[in-house]
Amino acid sequence: MTSVEIQNVQKHYGSFHALNDINLSIEEGEFVVMVGPSGCGKSTLLKAIAGLESVTSGQLMIKGRDVTKVEPGERGIAMVFQSYALYPHMTVAQNMGFGLRMAGRSKAEIDVAVARAAKILRLEEQLGKRPKQLSGGQRQRVAIGRAITRSPDVFLFDEPLSNLDAALRTQMRVELSTLHAQLGSTMIYVTHDQVEAMTMASRIVVLNRGRIEQVGAPLDLYSNPANLFVAGFLGAPRMNFVAGTVVEAQGHGARVACAAGLSVAFDDLVVPAAKGDMVTLGIRPEKLRIDDAVSAISFSGQVRLTEYLGRETIVYVDAGELSTVGSDSGTSVFTAQIGDIRPFQAASTVSITFDARDAYL
Ligand code: ATP
Repeated sequence: MTSVEIQNVQKHYGSFHALNDINLSIEEGEFVVMVGPSGCGKSTLLKAIAGLESVTSGQLMIKGRDVTKVEPGERGIAMVFQSYALYPHMTVAQNMGFGLRMAGRSKAEIDVAVARAAKILRLEEQLGKRPKQLSGGQRQRVAIGRAITRSPDVFLFDEPLSNLDAALRTQMRVELSTLHAQLGSTMIYVTHDQVEAMTMASRIVVLNRGRIEQVGAPLDLYSNPANLFVAGFLGAPRMNFVAGTVVEAQGHGARVACAAGLSVAFDDLVVPAAKGDMVTLGIRPEKLRIDDAVSAISFSGQVRLTEYLGRETIVYVDAGELSTVGSDSGTSVFTAQIGDIRPFQAASTVSITFDARDAYL
């Protein structure tokens, strides 16, 4: 059954179009993560679903009901914010039961709902405390608990883990995934953190400049990005891009020539290429190998910098004339991610190799 249906939604602020023709159908029980760079419109879209922001045109349906003009409190949603938004003068239990109290539920009913949420979130020991007596992670769990007690049709999360440190974020990611499995509720989650998107989502929605670039399961988007934006956005370190020209084309096959004699043959392109096309070749850092003799495609470069991350090594290689385009660092060096620890001397010359089947066009 469809839980949330977004139909032709536009949001304009004067002449600025924050959301352009958004169409998305979310099934009941899905964990949908909306990702995109700062300003892409993800918070605006979440607020539109919540009713905290009106839409300029289009329709929003929740469980088959048109809620486009319905007040936030009447939409059957509960939202968890980055800032927690807890009441400082109330205890954890009072904060968690607040929504139900406002809805005029009985004390007995509220107590049961709060106890259930506290058990799920392991907050039983904290119920009598006030927010300032809690850690950041516990505060965010209280905010999630407040959403759970209301038994909403849809949970909305707006960057809920951004204020937590890295270790706690990792732990909370696991807790949120577990919570989703336990409750089976529809969850819509906004983040700019692609790791959160890749690990928690049943489907990822990639947004850019107010438009949906691609929707799909995390590994599907990672393996089959529909365009340059998605290819460059998902994956860290970012995919290496190199400019090239199609020199031979036949059916779904093509040969692409880049600078410094690099030439790559593709045999199953999704979109056929034509001779003379200017194209961008993409190769993920983890698909580049260094000084590995057994490979068809190779080019050489100079090591600029090596980062040792413990279980892997990231090597930045300057391949001179063969430069990458549109990289994160603004430089034209290649990024290679090696799955072990190997020392590379700065300024030494290395040979980079990869397989044609790992390259994108
Ligand atoms: P971030 O990750 O930085 O929070 P976001 O993707 O959530 O970014 P939104 O907050 O949805 O971005 O904003 C989308 C665009 O709409 C931004 O360019 C923003 O400046 C603009 N915008 C948001 N609210 C308003 C407003 N009230 N008036 C004018 N422009 C706005």
